[in-house]
Amino acid sequence: MKFETITLHNGNEIDPYTGAASIPIYQASTYHQFSIDHPGVFDYARSGNPTRQALENAIAKLEGGCRGFAFASGMAAISTVFLLFSRGDHLIVSQDVYGGTYRLLTQVLSRLGIEATFVDTTDLKAVQEAIRPHTKGIYVETPSNPLLKVSDLRGIVKIARSHQLLTIVDNTFLTPYYQQPLALGVDIVVHSATKFIGGHSDVVAGLVVARDEEIAEKLAFLQNSFGAILGVQDAWLVLRGLKTLPVRMETATKNAEILACWLVQHPAVRQVYYTGLPSHEGHAIQEKQAKGHGAVLSFDVGSEEKAKRILNKVRLPIVAVSLGAVESILSYPARMSHASMPREVRLKYGITDGLLRLSVGLENVDDLIEDLAQAMEEKVSVLISGK
Ligand SMILES: *Cc1c(COP(=O)(O)O)cnc(C)c1O
Repeated sequence: MKFETITLHNGNEIDPYTGAASIPIYQASTYHQFSIDHPGVFDYARSGNPTRQALENAIAKLEGGCRGFAFASGMAAISTVFLLFSRGDHLIVSQDVYGGTYRLLTQVLSRLGIEATFVDTTDLKAVQEAIRPHTKGIYVETPSNPLLKVSDLRGIVKIARSHQLLTIVDNTFLTPYYQQPLALGVDIVVHSATKFIGGHSDVVAGLVVARDEEIAEKLAFLQNSFGAILGVQDAWLVLRGLKTLPVRMETATKNAEILACWLVQHPAVRQVYYTGLPSHEGHAIQEKQAKGHGAVLSFDVGSEEKAKRILNKVRLPIVAVSLGAVESILSYPARMSHASMPREVRLKYGITDGLLRLSVGLENVDDLIEDLAQAMEEKVSVLISGK
């Protein structure tokens, strides 16, 4: 079956007990054991719940993994995965990893004796050179935030395998609709389901999918031990969002492609970062390892003053952190996601004061263009709307 069909027909579409066409919210913390000698599938809801399990089964199928796990947030999912490692272990992590992941590694896991080296994972040589005797894993985010840098997943897997390192990929930006890291040999996929998978800016959730049973067993143990599980109401909301993932990704990506081309020719824009543009550094690798370019792009308008004016003048995109929703979201990395990074470091990474990140939603793209055009209009210049 094709992806779109699996999102709707994955074995969970009908409640086995009632035939309900939507998996019910099993709002129960514990389960009666009809026989002490033969316990049922579920005993206590931290360990398992039919609603959460439906979501876990669905994401496992969509990522092509052997088992899925749902957590209270993307960070709960990522934190639980990092508990696979022990004191003395060393990890190689993408330099421009999500801020929360960076904070967890540098301020929490470092305290517990798990060390991380941040490397530009688009450079395979740098990845290779960062390996130490105690290196146990490579953690990659591709495309990365906010410059959409693309890491070569096949190349990273090859390096990891030759050193018996575990590979973990944060697949939040592309979702399994466009990118399936497990098929490329990656061991574990993590998601902030708060973003595209949930898709409606109404739920915070995280997902993990394991490639094989050995890793799945360890993750199941950690999920139950650490206990950062996704609640049933939220599991149901994510299941609901997941059903429309393919159509949302298609439409949002089409809009993003049109917007990227429009931004490229706009006189007020210095640079556009979108992997769908052939001029983007990572375009060729992206084409080889993903089926699409997704709906997140960034563009540089040259200065803080200009960026702020646009943020104040846009009417359609909400101005916020987060991404991957039905509505467009415009964010300002210098003051939002990367505010805690020293300015020199931020500038060195290319995250300038004039950089804006746009997560393109499902609005009519002509309306988005018109809105951005009016927001970017400078008093004297006459702009062409691109329509
Ligand atoms: C938002 C995000 C996270 C963290 O997820 P939460 O659901 O906010 O905890 C992790 N990785 C990426 C790429 C994200 O965008």
